[in-house]
Amino acid sequence: MSKDEEIKKIAKDVKEHQCSLRATCIQAVPGYGNANTEVVFIGEAPGRSEDEQGKPFVGAAGKLLDKLLSTIGLKREDIYITNIVKCRPPGNRDPKPEEVAEHAHFLTQELDIIKPKLIVLLGRHALNRFMPNEKISAVRGKAKRKDNQVYFPIYHPAAALHNPNFSKILEDDFKKIPILLKKIDELSPQVVQSRTKPEAVKITQETLI
Ligand code: URA
Repeated sequence: MSKDEEIKKIAKDVKEHQCSLRATCIQAVPGYGNANTEVVFIGEAPGRSEDEQGKPFVGAAGKLLDKLLSTIGLKREDIYITNIVKCRPPGNRDPKPEEVAEHAHFLTQELDIIKPKLIVLLGRHALNRFMPNEKISAVRGKAKRKDNQVYFPIYHPAAALHNPNFSKILEDDFKKIPILLKKIDELSPQVVQSRTKPEAVKITQETLI
């Protein structure tokens, strides 16, 4: 099966799954975008617009995300975007740890298929799925290699909608994405190699940018 076919299969599984949030949401929202991308963006959970349309990041935060992507020459179709939780929590409340756990296997499968060069973590919930003890305000804008994968935590676009001070920070952090993609190839052939052969090299956590 191609990556596209495998990602389509997961989207079908997401749409058909049952979980504790299904009773209150309209529909489950699978990831969207290019299964052959180098960059995966991970958000928190669908909001109202996403729940209505069945696609991630189609509301106000998604429009800002599109704008930020365009500043670095990327379109939605160039990347893959998904959430740690695939169903909208009632009233957009924070997802509970058990809801994150219920959906965890979907994200693991998406990442196993795509094997991205870079994972951009949007906000604290996405950050804490991979680095449970870190604070977004302390680590945003700094890329880390952990378990052979490079992560880049940044503020969630919704935070910039609510707090104009975050807009400039987010714009500046976005500008680091193309630099980082280049740097990963230049600095660490091990990471590239390990994306296809996870057992080949053990890389410990290290700050890249
Ligand atoms: N916020 C998220 O984290 N995900 C979405 O899909 C939309 C808004």
